[in-house]
Amino acid sequence: MKETSIYIHIPFCDHKCIYCDFYSIINYENTFNYLTALKKEIEFFSKLYNDERKIISIFFGGGTPSLMEVEYINEIIISLKSNFNILPNAEITLETNPGTVEKSKLEKFLSIGINRLSVGIQSFDNNDLKFLTRIHDSKTAIQTILEAKEVGFENISLDLIFNLPNQTKEKWKRNLEIATSLPIKHISAYSLILERGTILNKMVLEGKVKIQDEEHDADLYETTIDFLSLNNFHQYEISNFAKETYECIHNNSYWHYKDYFGFGTSAHSFVNGKRWWNYSSTKFYIESINKKDNAIIGEETLTKEEMLNEYIMLAFRSSGLNIIELEKKFGNEWLNKNKSIIDYLISNNLIIKQNDKLIFTPKGYALCDEIISKFL
Ligand code: SF4
Repeated sequence: MKETSIYIHIPFCDHKCIYCDFYSIINYENTFNYLTALKKEIEFFSKLYNDERKIISIFFGGGTPSLMEVEYINEIIISLKSNFNILPNAEITLETNPGTVEKSKLEKFLSIGINRLSVGIQSFDNNDLKFLTRIHDSKTAIQTILEAKEVGFENISLDLIFNLPNQTKEKWKRNLEIATSLPIKHISAYSLILERGTILNKMVLEGKVKIQDEEHDADLYETTIDFLSLNNFHQYEISNFAKETYECIHNNSYWHYKDYFGFGTSAHSFVNGKRWWNYSSTKFYIESINKKDNAIIGEETLTKEEMLNEYIMLAFRSSGLNIIELEKKFGNEWLNKNKSIIDYLISNNLIIKQNDKLIFTPKGYALCDEIISKFL
């Protein structure tokens, strides 16, 4: 039975944050039609891929899924359960923004089967939160985590962004201190990225905001790795850290090159070596589903070489390259070709060999993109 994951995109948001380039809208007119379309899309693909699969994880991302009524999310879960073979212990994550959920709503999310919360905190500093145009403040962020724990969520993750304008090392460390003092099991820490088309990018181009340099960014990143490792959060991907046994099953599906379905606007799927993606427009998505039961706007079938390159990149960025698995999937050509580079990286403490795996050291993680580009 093939292990497979499912991503559901809920595009609705309260407003548009200045740094965000995810597909999201602040118009709720179409929520009902969107739900109907989602259910149709789920049914269509479950019939199309009527092979032996077990669903190991479901991830509600967005957008802001926690803005939706609990019943709305529940209807999607019911639809998934009636169309796919969802494992009884499947990880079911809901992206949650502080300021959109009260304690009683968290309790209801737990009762419909959500067993993991990914909370978009971004910062515990009120000035940073204002700058990022988030709707919550630090107090609400902390309260959301504590209430989630109180109602019974064991598996809570939070997102943080570092290298914000004027963010000193001390200020960033304070964020990490607060995060690790809370009852959470997982942290995603991303460096601020300027995405084209965002309000922030425009502000930078107009000289209204100054972004800190790469050296500072690297310094904060190394601080993150050191601090979190001292606090028992082990790094299992370039930006992700977890307490033992709490790695995100869903993210690992992407990084370990497993199959996944993506339903909803802008969602991507990767099944049996084929990748496809949906319209990034709620209107077109709904129209397309109504017409032909799917909303695919692009697709590609990867060549063996493309698959090998992706496999190597994803493995190095996450828990390491398993040599035995690599040879089974792609033969030993790649290893023979890159032997001298690998030996060089090992002798310079950028990669270590552990059992059958080649794994980045913290020093290697910091140079990850540069090193991977040498291989590909
Ligand atoms: S809440 Fe999240 S998805 Fe919505 S605009 Fe802000 S960053 Fe983007």
